[in-house]
Amino acid sequence: MTSLPRAFVWSTPMRSRFRGLLTRDGVLVHGPAGWGEFSPFWDYSDAEARRWWAAAREAADEGFPEPLRDRVPVNVTVPAVAPDRAAEIVRASGGCTTAKVKVAEPGQSLAEEQARLEAVRAALGPAGRIRVDANAAWDVETAVTHLRVLDRAAGGLEYAEQPCATVEELAAVRRAVEVPIAADESIRRAEDPMAVVRAEAADVVVLKVQPLGGVRAALRIAEETGLPVVVSSALESSVGIAAGVALAAALPELPYACGLATVQLFEHDVTDEPLLPVDGHLPVRRVTPSTEALEAMHADADTERRWQRRIRAVVGSAR
Ligand SMILES: [Mg+2]
Repeated sequence: MTSLPRAFVWSTPMRSRFRGLLTRDGVLVHGPAGWGEFSPFWDYSDAEARRWWAAAREAADEGFPEPLRDRVPVNVTVPAVAPDRAAEIVRASGGCTTAKVKVAEPGQSLAEEQARLEAVRAALGPAGRIRVDANAAWDVETAVTHLRVLDRAAGGLEYAEQPCATVEELAAVRRAVEVPIAADESIRRAEDPMAVVRAEAADVVVLKVQPLGGVRAALRIAEETGLPVVVSSALESSVGIAAGVALAAALPELPYACGLATVQLFEHDVTDEPLLPVDGHLPVRRVTPSTEALEAMHADADTERRWQRRIRAVVGSAR
């Protein structure tokens, strides 16, 4: 086995279009504490990506805080697919009893979303929990109308994640519907995550390690907001997912399944032992990439150069 490089640019096709993406790419970095991941989406600025870099360095240089549990419950993620496919994804989820269903995908109708939720409920059974994620796509009126319909179609929604873009809109939707509201983009892209709390705009906060600058930074935000936390991935490889698992494992309370079972949305992963759910849980452990797995994930030269430029820009802007 040849030794691994200290940084590796990876790229993989997605199994289904997700967050508008057909491929996902990023960088693995190595340090004294192990491997970290730097994979800000390309629509994030260098200033925003600086926090993602801090998360990668934390994993590589410092490692993670002590875990309070040895496995974390996770949800299956159902992209904006047809009902049959949605049911199939739930059944193949590795025992997940919570499903997160993507809604508000451009070009899709409310009837399609309704059908998807009904299929997911049928596949999960009555005891399962269903949440939806609109990725900030609705205005208040659409959110209120759609959530009422989707709540019925799902046989009760656990919560709706980021139905609208702004904190004010979230608060308005929250006042109008019974469905609890979770804030994701309003936390991760916000200068001031506490705005959500002050506006009483959410019942739950979704925390992601990379956008928040690392496990410790996310733990501080969790404490500050005082709201229940759902730890979610930013569509990372298993190396990045391990950091999310570390955050979930270190939280004093973990009342909801985490959105960390996303490796299966990738065609390839960086390790032969990917963080995939067993009995609806992910184990709490570090991940080491393997040369064999990385073979299938080599980014092309253009992508490598793009990432090199990006790291230079991000590290440069930190000085
Ligand atoms: Mg989300």
